[in-house]
Amino acid sequence: MPLELVFYGHPALRTKGKRIEKFDSSLATFAGEMLDLMHAHDGCGLAAHQVGRPLEIAVIDPTVSRKERPSRAWRNGEDLPIESLSPLILINPTITPIGTKISYQSEGCLSIPGLIEKVSRPARVQISYQTLQGEYQEIQAEGLLARAAMHEVDHLHGILFIDHLSAPELQEYQELLTTLARENKLE
Ligand SMILES: [Zn+2]
Repeated sequence: MPLELVFYGHPALRTKGKRIEKFDSSLATFAGEMLDLMHAHDGCGLAAHQVGRPLEIAVIDPTVSRKERPSRAWRNGEDLPIESLSPLILINPTITPIGTKISYQSEGCLSIPGLIEKVSRPARVQISYQTLQGEYQEIQAEGLLARAAMHEVDHLHGILFIDHLSAPELQEYQELLTTLARENKLE
């Protein structure tokens, strides 16, 4: 059965993801299907929660809209070509901010259509994760890649980007969110 997006109100989006222990071919197939779905919706990131499966895996493509939203990545002080991280598959990832610089940029989410708002996040981060083969990796990033990774890792913990908005900002979208929640909660 093809993967389908789930939307705000679906309980999977508020569930803490299960750690991935098995690095087999079905995991690789799942990641490939997630990437296809993400690209079909012009997204730059997608978490397993967004297809109704709360697992600690997310996919990112930092080359989507790279002109308007550039990224930089490096490992042990050496720059990594962004193409080498297209796609980037994050399994059991964790994120640690580097320094105290903050970035304030627009964000949206395929699971919350119609809502785009600016969110404050650390500008530079270290991303630690496992690959589809189970290997441990660490990269450092800023720009869209850093933001997308933080957004996706939030998803894996049941956190949505709107949780970072202030109460007055959220108030503006209350009607949209109430409608989405009504349409998507499971009976
Ligand atoms: Zn999202």
